[in-house]
Amino acid sequence: MAGKKSEKKHCTAIILSAGQGKRMGTSVQKQYLEIQGKPVIYYSLKAFEDSGIIDDVILVVGHGQEDYVYDEIVRKYGLAKVRAIVPGGKERYDSVWQGLKIIQNGALSEAAKNGYVYIHDGARPFVDEEIIERAYITVNMYRACVAGVPSKDTIKIVDEDGFAVNTPDRRLVWNVQTPQVFETGLITEAYFRMMQKKSIQVTDDAMAVEQEMNVPVKLFEGSYRNIKITTPEDLETANSFLKKK
Ligand code: C5P
Repeated sequence: MAGKKSEKKHCTAIILSAGQGKRMGTSVQKQYLEIQGKPVIYYSLKAFEDSGIIDDVILVVGHGQEDYVYDEIVRKYGLAKVRAIVPGGKERYDSVWQGLKIIQNGALSEAAKNGYVYIHDGARPFVDEEIIERAYITVNMYRACVAGVPSKDTIKIVDEDGFAVNTPDRRLVWNVQTPQVFETGLITEAYFRMMQKKSIQVTDDAMAVEQEMNVPVKLFEGSYRNIKITTPEDLETANSFLKKK
């Protein structure tokens, strides 16, 4: 590894599970639907639980779901690294901010404030130790990084009427995933500045750093399996991945 030779930094994962999952079309939120007999959210929690890199987990859930999630997931599956279960907010970035504030207000430890934070969509069950390790190496070198994969499809930018206006060079187009991993101080400052604004339009955490801080965000290799469960077809894909395992 070409990065700084230093002691391992404290790593906290913020797992987001406060979304409504409207595109799934079910009454149960997508993160609680089951694949191979366990809720979607279980799989990413387990990957971070078993990781030698991750020290703490903060789980962000919908308002009023804290007790249910504790009983039915955290306690049931013995997820001992979950230090806090906190209610999220209206938008994804509101939920992230709730998680970051837990670290910032000292509820975990001083080491956590000075470490790295992994922000991960609970709807991505196939994060694994290799991805978590690549993230650690990359954040250690660049301070801010996000998982992604080169786009397999040609991407077109369209106008409001759906006509193609631009076709970016496919070699430079990546699909971005989570985890998105940052120095805790850097992402907290980026969010702090962003949350003061009246109009916020970000769909991932890298955008907060891109817009608010003068720090480039490095992409590292995620995996084509690291899908986000969004629509019913994704559940079928997830089931088939697990069956093959
Ligand atoms: O809606 P989307 O699929 O982009 O959500 C990505 C992740 O962010 C999901 O795991 C979802 O539960 C979470 N989320 C959240 N709070 C919101 C919206 C989304 O924690 N308000």
